[in-house]
Amino acid sequence: MHPDLPPLREVIARHGLSASKALGQNFLFDEHLLDRIAAVPGELQDIAVLEIGPGPGGLTRALLRAGARVTAIEMDRRCLPALGELQDAFPDRLTVIEGDALKLDHDAIMGEPHAVVANLPYNVGTALFVRWLGGQDWPPRWTSLTLMFQQEVAQRIVATPDAKAYGRLAVLAQWRTSARLAMKVHRSAFTPPPKVMSAIVHVEPAAMPSGVSARQLERLTEAAFGQRRKMLRQSLKGVPGALGALEAMGIDPQRRAETLAVEDFVGIARLLG
Ligand code: SAM
Repeated sequence: MHPDLPPLREVIARHGLSASKALGQNFLFDEHLLDRIAAVPGELQDIAVLEIGPGPGGLTRALLRAGARVTAIEMDRRCLPALGELQDAFPDRLTVIEGDALKLDHDAIMGEPHAVVANLPYNVGTALFVRWLGGQDWPPRWTSLTLMFQQEVAQRIVATPDAKAYGRLAVLAQWRTSARLAMKVHRSAFTPPPKVMSAIVHVEPAAMPSGVSARQLERLTEAAFGQRRKMLRQSLKGVPGALGALEAMGIDPQRRAETLAVEDFVGIARLLG
């Protein structure tokens, strides 16, 4: 079932794959840890998985060990020979695509519902996350997102009102998904170790509240949280109809955005029409 593969470190040495800072590369080698990450999405036997940024393929191997059918998008050409060897070992279950995941149409590539798993550089991971959350079609073609973030960003995604980390990202993440912090990953697990701790967030689509669009909510939260610590009556001044919506909902305009529940933002956005 699982062909014998050379140890990852040996593959990296053979292909001269030093981690590139410019590409935000921090590799994971610990198989036990990688298996735990691959277990976060749940049963993967015969499930289609889109992996972004496989690098030399440590997480890819774990996903394959879990029985997934993996499509991996990697933009660093230097990693392709190592990934090619993995493809030779799993010809029916691994497809490697060279390219920039920010520029590719993931749904078209996958053509079927799929889980997404990724350990990406901070900026790329956040950009893709916001895009996955903001899709027009809901439920989306992805069935879950299992993503490595800096721990501080992971905390912002799952934060609840009044927590220090609560803000726009929490609202945009939670209004139509369930998001949880699945596990923390110590910086020493990476080669080279990044400056900060990391954490895996697991997100599944939930029912979408009616009468609200992602665009509306994006605009509203941008205004509400754009001027942190300001009262809503000040921060929402420039949003037509927002102050009336607050009144209709019985929300005191002297409150600050960070005290409102996700459902409050959904309610305001709905009234804005
Ligand atoms: N998944 C591997 C692991 O866990 O060891 C590598 C993780 S490393 C943090 C991030 C990987 O994403 C690198 O291999 C990098 O080349 C790749 N990458 C960065 N930006 C990308 C993009 N826009 N599209 C596809 N891959 C990207």
